[in-house]
Amino acid sequence: MRIIIFGPPGAGKGTYASRLGRELKIAVISTGDIFRDEIKQNTDLGGKVVEFVKSGDLVPDEIVTDIVTKRINMPNSKRGFILDGYPRNVEQAKSLGNITKVDAVILLIVPDWIIVERLSNRRICKKCGAIFNLKYLKPKRPGICDKCGEELFQREDDKPKVVRERLNVYEAQTRPLIGYYRDRLPILNIECNSVDIPPKVIVDKILQELQKLNLLG
Ligand SMILES: [Zn+2]
Repeated sequence: MRIIIFGPPGAGKGTYASRLGRELKIAVISTGDIFRDEIKQNTDLGGKVVEFVKSGDLVPDEIVTDIVTKRINMPNSKRGFILDGYPRNVEQAKSLGNITKVDAVILLIVPDWIIVERLSNRRICKKCGAIFNLKYLKPKRPGICDKCGEELFQREDDKPKVVRERLNVYEAQTRPLIGYYRDRLPILNIECNSVDIPPKVIVDKILQELQKLNLLG
């Protein structure tokens, strides 16, 4: 089972990917997570990508493709993998096609207003990183982390204006990729039309669609 997952920022892609990884016993290859880990651990790779990640620029194709190739060839990817954050452009999609076969693309379709609503209400703990939502996962005391008692803050890129910009970037990146894959792979359109759908519902929907394609064996 080799799948790619696309979805706008704030769609819960990371959550779905890790649940699917557990459910299907396949590796989750998230380029965002890999970069963050490498930067934290001060590795050579971390040093190479830190400036791009900090400034929000795309990490150059050859660096990302190299990393993804290594992960795909690791033993824990033997049963398959789910790719999150790669490919980001058609060039990368072509490189991926040279490295491995992919079975399907999952496309999370979420209305913009839901994303704006969800992200602009998100608050994060300064100390422990716990995530809250002013509407859907309220802290017990306003502005204070339930877990450690520290102050909560809003990430700069969760502010509505920045969220709209991020959505535009996502659209501009993803449209050509979907165009590229349309004739090549099955694309599973997964609609998320309500603000507080439990992740399990979405994951079950994805599994059903994979079943229909006879990919679950
Ligand atoms: Zn905390």
